[in-house]
Amino acid sequence: MSTVYFLDLRKKYKTNVLVRFRKLIDTAGGLKILKKNTSCAIKTHFGEDGNVNFVSPLYIRYLTDLIKESDSRPFLTDTTTLYSGRRFRGESHLELAKDHGFDFVPVVIADGVYGDEFVKVNTSKVARLFATIDRFVCVSHFKGHLTCGFGGALKNVGMGCSSKGGKLDMHSLSKPEIDQETCTQCLQCYGYCAYEAIKKNKQGVTIDRMLCTGCCGCMSICPEHAIKFSWDVASTDTQKGIAQCTADIIKGKDVFYINFLINITPNCDCFPTNEPTIAPDVGILCSFDPVAIDQACYDMVKDAIDQLHPEIDPHEQLAFAQEFGAGKREYEIKIVSA
Ligand code: SF4
Ligand code: SF4
Repeated sequence: MSTVYFLDLRKKYKTNVLVRFRKLIDTAGGLKILKKNTSCAIKTHFGEDGNVNFVSPLYIRYLTDLIKESDSRPFLTDTTTLYSGRRFRGESHLELAKDHGFDFVPVVIADGVYGDEFVKVNTSKVARLFATIDRFVCVSHFKGHLTCGFGGALKNVGMGCSSKGGKLDMHSLSKPEIDQETCTQCLQCYGYCAYEAIKKNKQGVTIDRMLCTGCCGCMSICPEHAIKFSWDVASTDTQKGIAQCTADIIKGKDVFYINFLINITPNCDCFPTNEPTIAPDVGILCSFDPVAIDQACYDMVKDAIDQLHPEIDPHEQLAFAQEFGAGKREYEIKIVSA
């Protein structure tokens, strides 16, 4: 059984919330994963244009101050996205992070400018940074999710620490294709593809599926957004992929998870809009087990999550993650008093 520490934000306290946040982390012993005089990544999500429900930079700044007190050097990180937006490429992702107030410690995009920097770990295309570090803090906003029912620590690691190509594997059964109507035949992708999968022929510029590795770097290169893919993977397979990638990414690492069960929106923070919340704020949870912490969050807002997408079974990501050795679904809650 794993332990999940819980700070209840539904109660009124005299102490300020950041002091209580510190007590939560101290009680859990979360910063024991730090090593003196070394850097420590904090994996989070900087939101999207038009969305303000992501975890507040005020909490994360406070967390970075605590890490500095332990003589460690914090930096923030996330990866590029599959959908086009400011997080699609590394440099615009950095600008977004700055615009959303994440400018108090260095920010690094873990899979590079084009999202093609990955290391294959088992079957997973892990963003290069996460294949090389041996510890990190994972800060997640727990909320509903269109494909998985909910998104929490498992999704933040499994999807969020994978490269663009890793995300493609979890969302699509096919390789990228070039839309001939949008393509201007500028050949930027042709010069970029290290696998010589992009061909120029009578049909125009095309991708040879046998040579293509699905790294997705060409998608970031194309100035016309002409390289596309199909979102054709069923929910069960996406959840299975997230669970497998999570297990592959965290294996042999020290990871401390913090889930914010507040601003519980129906969809993830990639949505460029602020939707009404589906449940009142609950609190902040932390654990060394990504399965247990997500199970605890889900149990606390189950009714609201289950009503969102009745056709999706959110238990699947928890069950797969446990099966693949990422953690345990059974947990005990330790309430942290103010
Ligand atoms: S064609 Fe395939 S291998 Fe080449 S850059 Fe694009 S996704 Fe990567
Ligand atoms: S970069 Fe885009 S527009 Fe240029 S050739 Fe490739 S697919 Fe066509």
